[in-house]
Amino acid sequence: MNVRNFLSKEQEAAVVRAIKEAELQTSGEIRVHLENHCGDDTLKHARMIFYEMGMQETEEETGVLLYIAVKDHKIAIIGDRGINAKVSENFWENIISELENHFKSEKYAEGICHALQTIGTQLAEHFPFKEDDIDELPNEISFGDDA
Ligand code: CA
Ligand code: CA
Repeated sequence: MNVRNFLSKEQEAAVVRAIKEAELQTSGEIRVHLENHCGDDTLKHARMIFYEMGMQETEEETGVLLYIAVKDHKIAIIGDRGINAKVSENFWENIISELENHFKSEKYAEGICHALQTIGTQLAEHFPFKEDDIDELPNEISFGDDA
């Protein structure tokens, strides 16, 4: 399994749709980043990617990165300061463990889409969608350069 063939084109489209749908529930701005390896410290590395992608630039600091190292089978979710100020440290735990279960049964795209839905509904409790919403960060999957 390689980051380049991890998802089919159709599955990538489904993931992008899931990001869009989640962002219709919450003012949070969600992105997905896939790469092969993350090094020793998944969280630290994912946080670095978050900043490299400029995800800290949202108005209310509500960027969320779903990070997956596909060969290492590592998952992290990074929320920006605005989110961390309002939610507990284990806020993402259930989402990560559900996604790990999906991965164990090799339901990658399905698991990611489900995780994005849950991110949307959980975030909506604290950061509901606003009428004057702006799409602050592109609804895209990005790929690490270690492919
Ligand atoms: Ca938005
Ligand atoms: Ca967006």
